[in-house]
Amino acid sequence: MKTIIEPFRIKSVEPIRMTTRKERKAVLKAAGWNLFKINAEDIIIDFLTDSGTGAMSSEQWAGIMRGDESYAGARSWHRFRERVEELTGFRHVIPTHQGRAAERILFSCLNLPGKIVVSNTHFDTTRANVQYLGGTAIDIPVPEARDPRSQLPFKGNIDLDRLREVLADNKLEVACVILTVTNNSGGGQPASMENIRSAAELCHEFGTPFYLDSCRFAENAFFIKKREEGFADRSVESIAREMFRLADGATFSAKKDGMANIGGFLAANDDNLARHEEELLILTEGFPTYGGLAGRDLEAIAIGLREVVEEDYLNYRIASTRYLGMGLLKAGIPIVEPPGGHAIYVDAGAFLPHVPPQQFPGHAVACAFFHEGGIRGCEIGSLMFDNQALLELYRMAIPRRMYTQSHIDYVVEVAQVVAKKKDRLKGFRVVEAPPQLRHFSARLEPL
Ligand SMILES: *Cc1c(COP(=O)(O)O)cnc(C)c1O
Repeated sequence: MKTIIEPFRIKSVEPIRMTTRKERKAVLKAAGWNLFKINAEDIIIDFLTDSGTGAMSSEQWAGIMRGDESYAGARSWHRFRERVEELTGFRHVIPTHQGRAAERILFSCLNLPGKIVVSNTHFDTTRANVQYLGGTAIDIPVPEARDPRSQLPFKGNIDLDRLREVLADNKLEVACVILTVTNNSGGGQPASMENIRSAAELCHEFGTPFYLDSCRFAENAFFIKKREEGFADRSVESIAREMFRLADGATFSAKKDGMANIGGFLAANDDNLARHEEELLILTEGFPTYGGLAGRDLEAIAIGLREVVEEDYLNYRIASTRYLGMGLLKAGIPIVEPPGGHAIYVDAGAFLPHVPPQQFPGHAVACAFFHEGGIRGCEIGSLMFDNQALLELYRMAIPRRMYTQSHIDYVVEVAQVVAKKKDRLKGFRVVEAPPQLRHFSARLEPL
């Protein structure tokens, strides 16, 4: 069969309130043209993020009831640890309330002042934690990662020549290398097993710890199965296990491929480091058998970590993201190609050449999708990063197991309307904004 159906039935529904174009215009004005200030009640399709927004399965909800809330040594903790150990093979597993807590604890224990952390691309909280703790974050993706049109199968790879140069440079002290799989800030593009293995070998040659930022490990493993020679007959579970076993440790946000609404973990093989990490965990997150989570959350994550490697699910997941990407391309809207795992990124700079970066073309696209169809996505460009932005993008991140094909067909129809009106879309100016992270709270005005 050619049709890839959603491999689940719907048991519980959450109504979507339909709005009119006129209502949405008023909502936009009242929110100061900032989509972060719009209530969920006023959104038809919410693509703001795929983080913690997915639908849990009936098994996960059953697990929520089974959750053991004992302070120490709860049954849910054991089920969580067993699943993470089986999947990753790491000696030490430390639960955290979300991914950034794992990052903060890891980087606190690596003693960062004066040192650098190297990545294909640091996610924004990862970069912020490195810098806050006195380190310097360096991104060295393969050069093609910066070109939205290039069609590499593994555009999330780290540049191995540059990595060798950085590791061999005696003037630089590298605290660790952390490879983001898939590369979220780089368009949700995967890294190949060959690249992960070579990066790990290089790190070990120079005695540098090699970590995975493994938020989307299952989507990455599925791309390896589909695109890398020699993996077609392997299970996603076995590919994921191999990825983790190349690393010395990992950070993880369970809000992504944990299929849960909250949670995360930090894992490591180094006994000394893990002891420090647990001490810090007790100080700021909680006892090492719950780490700031409820027992029921640990239970939901343990189950989610099994469901996420199911190939029917991943096949649907990756196909549906691609389906949206192809729909936008057909509507004449340029995107970062090839479509990634969890999101489609509109190349707003190319789509609206008449809107210069200082007038936020990504934001103009974001407002147009909301105005025309009640769709909420997120600008990733000069509004978010000021003059540090590489590209002017509009991201549509797809929550897991949440929307059906007809929802996506609706989004594509809205995209066709936006494409027809593109010459009339105007840029924006900031009316008022805080100095840091202005995109969350700025008030804007169309020009
Ligand atoms: C979401 C994310 C994080 C941070 O995780 P939170 O659970 O949001 O704190 C880190 N790295 C990547 C690649 C992410 O996508």
